Amino acid sequence: MKTYDAIVVGAGHNGLTTAAFLAKAGLDVVCVEKNDYIGGATVSRNLYKDWLYSNCSYVCSLLRPEIYRSLELHKHGLQVTPYGGSVTFMENGDYYGSYHDPEAAYREDVRFSRKDADAHKNYSADTMRQCRLIRDFLLRTAPDPTSFKPRDLLELIRIGGKINEMGEDRIYETIRFWTMSVAEYLDEFFETDVIKTALSASGIIGTALGIHSPGTAYVLLHHYMGDVDGNVGSWGFARGGTGAVANAIAGAFQAEGGELRTEAGVDKFIVRNGKAAGVALDNGDDIRANVVVSAMDVKRTFLTCMDKSDLPEKFLKRVENFKIRGSSGKINIALDGLPTFPALPEGSPLYLADMHFTDSMERMERAYDDWKDGTWSKDPYIDMTIPTTNDPTMAPPGKHFMSCFIQYCPRQIDGRDWTQEDKDGFQKSVFDQISNYSPDFKDLVLHAEVRTPQDIENEIGITEGNIFHGELTMDQLMFNRPVPGYAQYRSPIGGLYMCGSSNHPGGGIMGAPGANAAREILGDLKRPNTVPENFGDD
Ligand SMILES: Cc1cc2nc3c(=O)[nH]c(=O)nc-3n(C[C@H](O)[C@H](O)[C@H](O)COP(=O)(O)OP(=O)(O)OC[C@H]3O[C@@H](n4cnc5c(N)ncnc54)[C@H](O)[C@@H]3O)c2cc1C
Repeated sequence: MKTYDAIVVGAGHNGLTTAAFLAKAGLDVVCVEKNDYIGGATVSRNLYKDWLYSNCSYVCSLLRPEIYRSLELHKHGLQVTPYGGSVTFMENGDYYGSYHDPEAAYREDVRFSRKDADAHKNYSADTMRQCRLIRDFLLRTAPDPTSFKPRDLLELIRIGGKINEMGEDRIYETIRFWTMSVAEYLDEFFETDVIKTALSASGIIGTALGIHSPGTAYVLLHHYMGDVDGNVGSWGFARGGTGAVANAIAGAFQAEGGELRTEAGVDKFIVRNGKAAGVALDNGDDIRANVVVSAMDVKRTFLTCMDKSDLPEKFLKRVENFKIRGSSGKINIALDGLPTFPALPEGSPLYLADMHFTDSMERMERAYDDWKDGTWSKDPYIDMTIPTTNDPTMAPPGKHFMSCFIQYCPRQIDGRDWTQEDKDGFQKSVFDQISNYSPDFKDLVLHAEVRTPQDIENEIGITEGNIFHGELTMDQLMFNRPVPGYAQYRSPIGGLYMCGSSNHPGGGIMGAPGANAAREILGDLKRPNTVPENFGDD
C-alpha cells in the first residue's frame, strides 16, 4: 500500500491551504473530503436551476493577502471585488446608511447627531489601532506563555515590545477592549441608538453571545481586520461565490502535484504506539502517512474520530469544554428580479450595500433572548446581501441571488432536533422581516434554501454548525485556542496536527490557521518553509 508524506482531512479552505503549502515544499500530499464537493463552509453550490448559491459564507475580507499572493490564487481564478456600504432600515420609515466615502458617511451621521458624526472618527481610529495590533498576530503561531523554549520566549518578547510601544493609556484601553461588551464599547462613543445598533452587529455575528455579553467588543475585530486590495475593513464578493476561494486554493494544491479525493470521509485516525499512522475511511479503505492533519473542528477531531483511550484525560476534558455553539442560520434565495426598498431614494448606492432590519439595541438583545429560550429569533437580526448586484455570474440575466445570514438560530429547538415545521416558522420570521421593508420581495422568490445550524453540522461536519469552529472569546483565543498547551497546531498524538478554524487565529475565510499549521509541520519535518511571512503592511 502506498504511503503518503501527509494526509489532510477536510477540503475546506484551511485544509486546502495546509495541503497546498505542504505540496509546495515537495511533500506527497493527499487531501480527503467526506462530501462529493470541496470547500466546506467556503463553497458555491448549484442547488436551483442556473443559480449559484454561496450557501454558507458569502462575503470575503479576511483571507490573508500573503496567502493569496504566495499561492498565486489569481492564476487559479480568484477575484474579489469590494461592495458598497451598508444600510439599516428603521421601523419609522427612515434608514441609516453607512458609506465608504468619508464625506457621505459624515453627512449621514450628522442627519442623526453631529456629536456622533464627530465621534465616528475617533471610533474608527480606535478600532483600527486594535486591528493593527491583531493583524500582526494572524500569520504567526501564538507563543506558549508557560514555555521556556527560545522561540516562545522570543515571540513573547516581540509581542511585549509591540504592546509596550502602544504607551500606558492604550495598554489599559486595549485590555478593556478585549474583555468588554460591544454595547459598552459603543456607548463610549455614540448616543444614537440606530448608529450603535448598526455597528454592534459585528460584535455578535456568528457567536452565541448578545451585544451586552463581555468579550463581544473583540469579535468586532473579526469583521474589521481584513481587507480587500489593501483597504483595511473593506468586504467584497468573490466572483462566482465564496467557493471560488476554495477552488483557487485547490487549484494551487493540484498544480503542486497534490491529490484531492472527495467522497472519502474519515471514520477514525489510525494511531500506532502513540503516533499517527494514517486514516481509516468510512468506505473501509485505509490511507497511510506518518503526518496526518485534521481540518475538522477540535471536537469532531478528538471526540468523534479518535479512540478516547489514545488521549490524555485532561486534554479530552478540555476539548469537551471548548465552546462551539450553534447560533446562526442561513437562507439562500433565488429571485425573479431585484426587490425594491421604498425607504431608499431611487438609484441610491445603498441598493448595492448589505442590508439590515434591526434598528435598536433593545431589539438586538431581544433577538438573543429567543436563542436563550431555545428557539429562533422571532424578530431576527439579518445580514442580507444580493451578490448578483456586483457579480452577475451567479444567476441568469435579470435574476438575482439573495443571501440572508440570520442571528440567532440555535442548534436545537427546545432541546430537540429541528422539524420541517420549525424550519418553515424560521423562514417565515425572516421573510416577514424583509417584506416589512420591501413589499414586492415575497412575490419575487422562486426558491429558498433554509439552513439551520443542524443542517450545517450535518453537511459540513462543524459541531453545532458554529461558523468559527468555536467561540472567539478571550478564554478561547491565542495560546488558549483550542486547548492550552496545544495551541501550536500539534496534538498529544505524535504526527497528528490540527489546521482548521478551531485553532489560532480562528474562523472566517482567512486561511491563517491552515498556513500556520503548514509552517509548523514543515519545521518539524526539517523541510524548507514555504509559508510566507506577515507582510507587515501596517
Ligand atoms: C453559514 C455560514 C456563514 C459564514 N459566513 C462567512 C462570511 O461571509 N465570511 C467569512 O469570512 N466567513 C464566514 N463564515 C465562516 C467561514 O466560512 C468558516 O470559518 C471557514 O470557512 C471554516 O473553514 P475551515 O477550512 O476551517 O473549515 P470547514 O470549512 O468547516 O472545512 C472542514 C472540512 O472538513 C470536511 N469534513 C468534516 N468531517 C470530515 C470527515 N470525517 N472526513 C473528511 N472530511 C470531513 C467538511 O466536509 C469540510 O469540507 C461562515 C460560516 C458559515 C457556516
